Amino acid sequence: MENNVQKELKVSALENGTVIDHIPSDRLFTAIRILNLDGSPNPVYFGTNMNSQKYGSKGIIKISGRYFGREEINKIALVAPTATLIEIKDYKVVSKYNVETPSEVQSFVKCFNPKCITNHQAVPTKFKVFTDANGVLKLRCHYCEKTTTQENMVFQ
Ligand SMILES: [Zn+2]
Repeated sequence: MENNVQKELKVSALENGTVIDHIPSDRLFTAIRILNLDGSPNPVYFGTNMNSQKYGSKGIIKISGRYFGREEINKIALVAPTATLIEIKDYKVVSKYNVETPSEVQSFVKCFNPKCITNHQAVPTKFKVFTDANGVLKLRCHYCEKTTTQENMVFQ
């Protein structure tokens, strides 16, 4: 019994790797997909619907033995702008920062417009990120200039 408890503790404390905290619970699996963690060779742990003093409910992802570039991690700001990144080395927190919404995104989001060239030819998508008058995050396509909103974002 004691052994099991110790094993669980080991899972919750990372020796080396990245913790992504404060992800909205309903966006957790989207964040996992955006970061391609479903195909990761590293151990990945996640929790959802966890108590959060700040947001009521949150999701968390822990990736053992892996660090991310800012550009890569900022992709998840499109669905989880509240996310915090914590990097761990030898069980110690070596850096902590909030994700930042990128001003431009390429390749990983599909254009909402079915007539867009990116949906018919091998052209990678490209968008400018902006927020409308109501503070809603939107993507404007570089090619067709149509706007893709957060609700209809599809990730490639
Ligand atoms: Zn387009």
